[in-house]
Amino acid sequence: MKADYLIVGQGISGTLLSRALIKAGKQVVVIDDGNISSSSKVASGVINPVTGKRLVRTWMIEELLPFARETYEKMGAEFGVSLVSKCNILDFHASRDAAEGFNDKLAEENEYLSQSADESKWQEYFRFNYGIGEIDPCLLVDISAMLRKWRDHLFSKDLLVWNRFRIDDCEIAEGGVRYGDITADKIIFCDGAASAEHPFFNKLTWSKDKGEVLIAEIPVLPSNNIYKQAINIVPWRDGLFWIGATHDWKYSDMQPTAAFRKQTEELLNYWLKLPYKIVDHLVAQRPVNMDRKPFVGLHPAIPSVGIFNGMGTKGCSVAPYFAEQFAQHLVNGTPLMPDVDVRRFAKILSR
Ligand SMILES: Cc1cc2nc3c(=O)[nH]c(=O)nc-3n(C[C@H](O)[C@H](O)[C@H](O)COP(=O)(O)OP(=O)(O)OC[C@H]3O[C@@H](n4cnc5c(N)ncnc54)[C@H](O)[C@@H]3O)c2cc1C
Repeated sequence: MKADYLIVGQGISGTLLSRALIKAGKQVVVIDDGNISSSSKVASGVINPVTGKRLVRTWMIEELLPFARETYEKMGAEFGVSLVSKCNILDFHASRDAAEGFNDKLAEENEYLSQSADESKWQEYFRFNYGIGEIDPCLLVDISAMLRKWRDHLFSKDLLVWNRFRIDDCEIAEGGVRYGDITADKIIFCDGAASAEHPFFNKLTWSKDKGEVLIAEIPVLPSNNIYKQAINIVPWRDGLFWIGATHDWKYSDMQPTAAFRKQTEELLNYWLKLPYKIVDHLVAQRPVNMDRKPFVGLHPAIPSVGIFNGMGTKGCSVAPYFAEQFAQHLVNGTPLMPDVDVRRFAKILSR
């Protein structure tokens, strides 16, 4: 099999990059091992324009959010499914201080923040004393459907190898790569946190970030909002809700912890007035760069090897825009934004 690009990984990054390259007229082969605990399979799919305790605008959100919405809408239309919906965050203030902090921020950030119009409606579902703020617009991406539809599409065109990629079996030369019966001009790593472990990109400024999530049935809760207090309750697939998540930077294994489950159930037992049933407990490692910007581009010393990774906590908003930018760079030579270009690490990558 001969391709222009061999792409390792079909999470959000590999999906969007392979699609952008195919749209630009390139021949692509994708290899994925079907890991059910990848970051993309455990993520909730929220695109939130203001994040963190201090409700700071997400980097480049004015460009990223509309671009992401358009990409998912177009992709959904191609496959006859809806992949993105508007789903605002209702921020249940946990204390008087939190409410005051939100209200102070409201004065300077009135594009995305407002007070919830109908607080009394939520008394039936939640226990809260300090009011509700709203973050609007937020988007919710159906990542699961997107990955499945793209996987089926690649399969139908014979462009997907469903297997584990082994770096030791890959011959890499300046002019191209060979992996089994696949030859390609370039190999692009979209393999999430796994890139931190292999020789080409392990020197990048990776940060560990384990996230745990509970999946629950909450039969009566409306599924057209995201509910936030110390944790988020997010409408998920199959009528279930996604509840999480943690950020753990010091861990020795990727197992779910009893401590997270206990702490989350205690919180739910107080906050949520409805009965719920936990049906799953998921864990994944986010592919995070310490400077919070993605890694995009070709290896400065080995031009047949590239990376599209480091999406961190925001793959749903960041990946669509930079997949297109990277595809244009590869195909037409248009420059990459210096903030994301992996050549900013040229010194450490060339050692
Ligand atoms: C708990 C949690 C919640 C999150 N919530 C959100 C959210 O609401 N919104 C948001 O934007 N982001 C969220 N994220 C972050 C988001 O998941 C990531 O930014 C994004 O999924 C990264 O996608 P990726 O394709 O780069 O990596 P991954 O999802 O890790 O995909 C890598 C792919 O490569 C494959 N692979 C790896 N090694 C090999 C190999 N050797 N051979 C073959 N295949 C291989 C894997 O199976 C996988 O399919 C969350 C993450 C977590 C963990």
